[in-house]
Amino acid sequence: TSFSDLNLDPKVLKAIEATGYTTPTPIQAGAIAPALEGRDVLGIAQTGTGKTAAFTLPMITRLAKGRARARMPRSLVLAPTRELAAQVAENFDTYAKGSRLKKALLIGGVSFKEQDQLIDRGVDVLIATPGRLIDHFERGKLLLTGVEIMVVDEADRMLDMGFIPDIERIFEMTPFTRQTLFFSATMAPEIERITNTFLSNPEKIEV
Ligand code: AMP
Repeated sequence: TSFSDLNLDPKVLKAIEATGYTTPTPIQAGAIAPALEGRDVLGIAQTGTGKTAAFTLPMITRLAKGRARARMPRSLVLAPTRELAAQVAENFDTYAKGSRLKKALLIGGVSFKEQDQLIDRGVDVLIATPGRLIDHFERGKLLLTGVEIMVVDEADRMLDMGFIPDIERIFEMTPFTRQTLFFSATMAPEIERITNTFLSNPEKIEV
């Protein structure tokens, strides 16, 4: 497979070309096509396998049509730590170059005011840690009923950090019809339970 066989947005292909990637990694080769079709994806992959692009590239392509409305993000990426969320945001900027998608990063240690303004402007891709996302939700400033795509990244680390109840709560705040892309390095019983509850006939890719 090459990236150009994958039905990605031409702007995304251009951005990938600019990064110098020539060939999709195995997780990308397995996840991108079903994700572009709107299927749920369960990716069992470690950091370093290229999983960030595996979910970001199809998201950007699918969100290219449509526009964000105030306080109703169109997609949501959950990462366990500030650092990982910031890394996803950085990757997004690289791959979404030339697209008009609006991103917001919701992590602790930054004032709510600044983040509120971003949310009010309308967000296509909201990247957050679970705690901060719930803080915003509880302040009544954020609606998750417009989420079309939800990504859970590094679920095994979320489990280690005690975030599983938060993740379940967030799943329950999003529409039943959302697409879910779920990544974990391991499949602990608790992770398996979550995927059985919230993913619908996922394409499973293990690398
Ligand atoms: P990740 O697993 O998403 O943290 O990505 C690990 C590293 O691989 C990052 O530095 C990416 O920039 C890089 N990467 C992702 N996809 C590819 C690819 N198809 N070819 C070469 N490098 C890649």
